[in-house]
Amino acid sequence: MARVAIVTGGTRGIGEGICLKLQEMGLTVVANFGGNEQKAQAFTAATNIPAYKWDVGDHQACLEGCARVEAEIGPIDVLVNNAGITRDGTLHKMSFDDWSEVIRINLGGCFNMAKATFPGMRERGWGRIINIGSVNGQAGQYGQVNYAAAKSGIHGFTKALAQEGAKFGVTVNAIAPGYVDTDMVAAVPQPVLEKIIANIPVGRLGEASDIARGVAFLASEDANFITGSTMSINGGQHMY
Ligand code: NAD
Repeated sequence: MARVAIVTGGTRGIGEGICLKLQEMGLTVVANFGGNEQKAQAFTAATNIPAYKWDVGDHQACLEGCARVEAEIGPIDVLVNNAGITRDGTLHKMSFDDWSEVIRINLGGCFNMAKATFPGMRERGWGRIINIGSVNGQAGQYGQVNYAAAKSGIHGFTKALAQEGAKFGVTVNAIAPGYVDTDMVAAVPQPVLEKIIANIPVGRLGEASDIARGVAFLASEDANFITGSTMSINGGQHMY
């Protein structure tokens, strides 16, 4: 039977690219999403991938949502923690709400989803958890103390959980994308974006598929000796 993968924030942007790639690999794929129902319906109609709505920052919703997916589709073998938001602003302008929402969703979401799926993977002796961090979690970024802290936290979370999963056949890795052409980056003002692209050695933004191929590799049997690592996919923007 095909393994089951869940991708949080899987109905658009990088998450959509990951869903399509994992489906192409022969996995049974499920997408979770946070808000845009219309986009999620169009995604399911186009891909035949079911989309389940819940907030990954809500612990109970993750437990209940994953239990529903497991009852309706099957045990979750692969978790891709991709859902994320930005609430940018320099520290002196950033509200506590902007700080805590980003930590709650971007970092708390990884904990909540792992709590819902890791015990089953551990019991069955096989699992893959792939967390989407960011170049800005590695290098820091002006106006993003909340986002950089959450993404940097994802990298520590990955290394700690990798140690817990190793003897149970569960690998835990992260991908740190550079700037990828999605709605999130469309929010960056054009002059800022031009400066960013000028600093990417390969001379372009990433595509969702560039990130998805990295996820597919880490989810595959070929990657079974790789755990606790961070794969940077950033066109050479930051070499770590
Ligand atoms: P996007 O804004 O296009 O999509 C984000 C997805 O997350 C959406 O599907 C949305 O429904 C989902 N989401 C948001 N809040 C949620 C919540 N509370 N519960 C469940 N789902 C929620 O973003 P993207 O550019 O595709 O980014 C995907 C991931 O990659 C994010 O974690 C982001 O931080 C990371 N990333 C993106 C870039 C980039 O340049 N686009 C770079 C580095 C890292």
